[in-house]
Amino acid sequence: MKLGVFGGTFDPIHKGHVAVCQYVLSFLSLDSILFIPARNPRLRDEKLPQATSKQRLEMVKIALREQSQFQVSDIELDRCGPSYTVDTLKEINNKFNSVSNDVYLIVGSDVINRFHQWHEYETILISNRLIVYGRPGYKEPQQLPNKLAKYKERIQFVNGPEYGFSATSIRNALSDGERNIDGLTPDVEDYIKKEKIYVEEKQ
Ligand code: ATP
Repeated sequence: MKLGVFGGTFDPIHKGHVAVCQYVLSFLSLDSILFIPARNPRLRDEKLPQATSKQRLEMVKIALREQSQFQVSDIELDRCGPSYTVDTLKEINNKFNSVSNDVYLIVGSDVINRFHQWHEYETILISNRLIVYGRPGYKEPQQLPNKLAKYKERIQFVNGPEYGFSATSIRNALSDGERNIDGLTPDVEDYIKKEKIYVEEKQ
């Protein structure tokens, strides 16, 4: 079994997240991808999510309704204390009793330059593969950061179609009162309206 793991704040989930995972699923012939909403920002300087954990989980469920190869997990949202990707991956590896090479952690290319700041990033790379998907404005670096270079065999860049959507610009559009936002599926947008999320934020 080849399992993809896609963590994120998903504040909110957008079409870029889903399209990236559809591409990676087919490109790497994965069996399924687990979407994991993060409880806390992974790095200290990241902002707190504006939607609650429950709302972010619900939005992911709504966005993935029609996607039978994608599942959602609340494994991080239930955790007490700091929440690290490395712990999530350990839990997943134990639960699925998988051989280490079968778990693929998927991130956007904006993440790669800071990946070595993630808690126990080396453990992540030793036990899992890291898939880095190209995002507009974040080209594949000519050289990996020094701390990652020795794990280059474990890191694979995937350059499929690029998607310009970002959660930040969607939140800003929503707080400006825009409707029918390009990056959101209508059901997720309806949920956001019903719950009155992102009505005040502006960056
Ligand atoms: P923000 O705009 O607040 O930075 P985001 O759009 O990056 O949010 P996250 O939930 O933080 O959304 O992203 C989860 C994962 O999806 C991260 O690994 C991120 O790099 C990746 N990702 C998000 N949007 C894209 C995109 N348009 N193309 C490729 N990867 C993306």
